[in-house]
Amino acid sequence: MSTAVYGIFGYPVGHSRSPSMHNAAFAALGIDAVYVPFEVAPESLSTALRGANAMGVRGLNVTLPHKSAIMPLLDVVEPDAQAIGAVNTVVLEDGWIAGANTDAEGLARALRAADVTLRDAAVTVIGAGGAARAAVVGLARAGACRVHVAARRPEAAAQLVQSLSDALPNTTLVASGMDATMAEAFEGTQLLVQATSATLGETPGARAFADSLPLQRLPADCVVTDLVYKPLQTAVMARAAERELRCVDGMGMLLHQGALAFERWTGQAAPLSVMAEALAR
Ligand code: NDP
Repeated sequence: MSTAVYGIFGYPVGHSRSPSMHNAAFAALGIDAVYVPFEVAPESLSTALRGANAMGVRGLNVTLPHKSAIMPLLDVVEPDAQAIGAVNTVVLEDGWIAGANTDAEGLARALRAADVTLRDAAVTVIGAGGAARAAVVGLARAGACRVHVAARRPEAAAQLVQSLSDALPNTTLVASGMDATMAEAFEGTQLLVQATSATLGETPGARAFADSLPLQRLPADCVVTDLVYKPLQTAVMARAAERELRCVDGMGMLLHQGALAFERWTGQAAPLSVMAEALAR
């Protein structure tokens, strides 16, 4: 049997930590497989996917800018990926190409692994981009009773909530700007999810963003998580830690979305500690 090939499509893709995470997992389980970064320009996405399928590539991750663009090229897209509007995992089997989104469940698993209660939780998600959409779906599926989405453009939050409300009938979804309504929602929040890109990098802008959040309105037992993992302790987490709020970093979501993809591709339980170690290197 020949070496199985897996990979990630991105543009750029050089920064991705997925190759080291998955190659470490294959080695740990003695699976004869390799995971390769593929730099695929937007105009080449369709050709690259057909080529991968023709060459027997077994599975792919998909990152920016292809997460939505790849959807019409797939034979089937799972309902949650449809709702989120993005695919991050592709399974290629017998010429059939299926797409899924493991970010949503990846976040829920990471939070559960950190002992965060999600069932019946009241959550506030800041941001209305792709990561925020995945967070809302993941947390609602995990049993959150209420998710308040706050974005600097209130219309973006309202659009996100409106587009997901049919798919998530058991969770109350509320939208607002990053304003007094959000500050009020903070008072009943058990889990705050920072899902904007504003905390990327250790910049004055990231600190100003953190300072603008009314974290003092959060209850003392609220857990704060930032999906951004560069830096690992973001400005929002630093501010939350000053208030002695419990913080969970974004690396767990990266780990668990990868583990879920690995399990779909191989049918085997992902070696989590090996993968976490590879991510930390
Ligand atoms: P998008 O570009 O889709 O969305 C970014 C969001 O951030 C938008 O809502 C944008 O608002 C908002 N935003 C940016 N800057 C500010 C600011 N200064 N103040 C308020 N809102 C702001 O990105 P993604 O949703 O895909 O990703 C967001 C972050 O999540 C990324 O930086 C990434 O690092 C992280 N991420 C982590 C993952 C993990 O596994 N841990 C997985 C996926 C993402 P607007 O629309 O108004 O510009």
